[in-house]
Amino acid sequence: MNLDTSPIAAIATAPGRGGIGVVRASGKSLAPLLSVLFPGATLTPRHATYIPFKQADGSIIDQGIAIWFKGPHSYTGEDVLELQGHGGPVVLQMLLGRVLEAGREHGLRLAEPGEFTRRAYLNDKLDLAQAEAVADLIDASTEAAAKSASQSLSGAFSKAINTLVEQTIGLRMLVEATLDFPEEEIDFLEKSDARGQLAVIIGSLDQVFRQAAQGALLREGLNVVLVGQPNVGKSSLLNALAGSDVAIVTPIAGTTRDKVSETIQIEGIPLNIIDTAGIRTVDEAVDVVERIGIERTWGEVAKADVILHLLDANLGPSASDEHICAAFPQGVPVLRIWNKIDLSGHKPGLDVASDATHLYLSANEHQGIDLLREELLRIAGWQQTGESLYLARERHLIALRNAREHLDHAAAHAAQSDQSLDLFAEELRLAQAQLSTITGEFSPDDLLGVIFSRFCIGK
Ligand code: GDP
Ligand code: ZN
Repeated sequence: MNLDTSPIAAIATAPGRGGIGVVRASGKSLAPLLSVLFPGATLTPRHATYIPFKQADGSIIDQGIAIWFKGPHSYTGEDVLELQGHGGPVVLQMLLGRVLEAGREHGLRLAEPGEFTRRAYLNDKLDLAQAEAVADLIDASTEAAAKSASQSLSGAFSKAINTLVEQTIGLRMLVEATLDFPEEEIDFLEKSDARGQLAVIIGSLDQVFRQAAQGALLREGLNVVLVGQPNVGKSSLLNALAGSDVAIVTPIAGTTRDKVSETIQIEGIPLNIIDTAGIRTVDEAVDVVERIGIERTWGEVAKADVILHLLDANLGPSASDEHICAAFPQGVPVLRIWNKIDLSGHKPGLDVASDATHLYLSANEHQGIDLLREELLRIAGWQQTGESLYLARERHLIALRNAREHLDHAAAHAAQSDQSLDLFAEELRLAQAQLSTITGEFSPDDLLGVIFSRFCIGK
């Protein structure tokens, strides 16, 4: 991670062709850059100016809109220049090249991933949870996830966390004030209702945790692996599951073409479905290439939150099904789905057996699909509460859990007869420190590095 604060520039729009594309620069002072790029012109802050973008020799790269944001009134809190040109990869590369060249003598360099947002964070334009929400909003794969990310971006999650921090500090100050007057310690907890205040804080924290944990589901979704012999109805089941929701079909990053993966959603929760058509076990592989493919597929199976093992209710399991079952990883829940009950005469239903949960349905006739949807939501841990959700990350949940633990310790100290107030105060301090890592008040640099390096360049 680059910690120097020299001016930076990057293409801010997605690669590929588009109606417009944006090159963005940020720096403590971009006035010298402006005078090189647009000699003689004066750009009014936050006004769009239609202007030619020219090479050093005066030839025109493109005509577009320049917007000048004088710091601190900008995304990063520094001077920001946005050049909107035509959205072609070559023209944008030329424009970026020109900007870098024009600013080189003032130290302008290419931005690293997430560096604009990191500067916004360092300049107090956003706290850390909001900065993460920028990336989450961009990455959101469902409408519900986008909605929650934008909630966090607007500061709703940060506000909830800050309220918890303030309540904790308030109680801690009360306790610490008493520490200086040992004779008052004895009945302090009674008089101040410290236990009651602590219980209120714990109650609010639990509430925030629920909203965050449910929101995390919207972000992470459920990794579902679909296995089954050809023709048992895997594609039909996917369509039936996606139902009337618009199935958003997105390739999962890093997956190869030999594996079909798509995302559908149930109540806004993305289900990342990996269709392992014709999966075999490694010892059945005929050559090295197939072996590698199979190993990769089993790697996906190992990462699954749930395995849907589809069988034909009319034909029963095949020898290969038995073989595959034996190879399923331990600990991953398996739903054994008997499809085509319209042919076999079974009734739609759910049967929890010791080896797996068995589900009887018909993808084509849409019988029993609701049971499957409910079962998947149950496995995901989804509760329909109607409260607003925060698109939390794993690290937020961990911090909330740790804070809760320290508050529990504090409660335990308060319950003891000797009522050790200094330990009580210390636990409050630790809880507060945990909560503060969420908004980034006390966040180590390596954490910042990890968070911002996952952004794309130009963000
Ligand atoms: P896949 O190869 O596992 O993806 O199977 P498909 O979804 O392509 O389905 C194979 C065939 O089974 C198609 O002709 C489907 O119409 C049929 N099929 C799928 N589900 C059902 C069902 O519930 N009942 C009946 N009768 N046929 C089904
Ligand atoms: Zn503790």
